[in-house]
Formats: sequence, structure tokens, C-alpha cells
Amino acid sequence: MPTYEFRCKACQHEFELVYKTTAAYAAATPTCPNCGATTLSRVIRRVAIEAPSRDFTRMSASEMLSVFSSGDSKQVGQMFDQVAGTHPGLAVEYHEATKRLLKGEPMDKVEKHLQERDAEKKPPSSPPPPAAPSS
Ligand SMILES: [Zn+2]
Repeated sequence: MPTYEFRCKACQHEFELVYKTTAAYAAATPTCPNCGATTLSRVIRRVAIEAPSRDFTRMSASEMLSVFSSGDSKQVGQMFDQVAGTHPGLAVEYHEATKRLLKGEPMDKVEKHLQERDAEKKPPSSPPPPAAPSS
């Protein structure tokens, strides 16, 4: 059943109303149970963001992208934390990014920093070739 959340503009009371169908909601006049006012505003919750613990490691790439584009640093930090845990090779860089994101640093800043570090790293240090077996 559709649940609608409202905030009363008269007394700021927040409450939920449950309707059997969206049509029933459309036909009804929601009323504040606290003061009886009908001047209400809908409260839209960002349900996905508020979910207490998401399993980011099972997300598809496009879902991850949507987390990124949500612009929620802490959520992205959480995602990094979980994803990096499953990929030891990523751990060093991601853990640093994770820490910064969890502290609330803006994502674009952290991302830029990682990219710059990446660029610094690549030219000089190519991994040493595997030692040829000497026999
Ligand atoms: Zn009210």
C-alpha cells in the first residue's frame, strides 16, 4: 500500500498516511492529525541513501555510478570501503580515498587527487621484469 509522508505547514508536525491505492490518495484530502490543517507538503525521502547497510560489492557498475552521481561523499566512501575490501590490489589507494570521503571531503577533490597520484606514478616506475631463471 502506498505510504505518503507529509509535513504540516501550520504546525510542522510530520506524519504518514497510508492509502489502499494511489487513486484513493488522489481522491482524499490529507489532513494533519495534530491540528487538522490541510496545508501539507509532501516529504520525499531519499530511501536509497538512507538504507542502513547496502551491499555495494553486489552492485552493478551502473548502480555504483548512480551512487557516485548522488554526490553523497559518505555513501561513496562506504562503497569504496566495501569494494576495496574484496580487491586487495585496490586497497591502498581506495582506503585513502575512503578515509577522506568518510571525513566528508568532496568527491571531486578526492578523485582528482587520486588521478594526480596515478599520473605521477606511471611514467618512472614500471615493474621490474621477472627474473629470468638462471640455470
Ligand atoms: Zn498540523
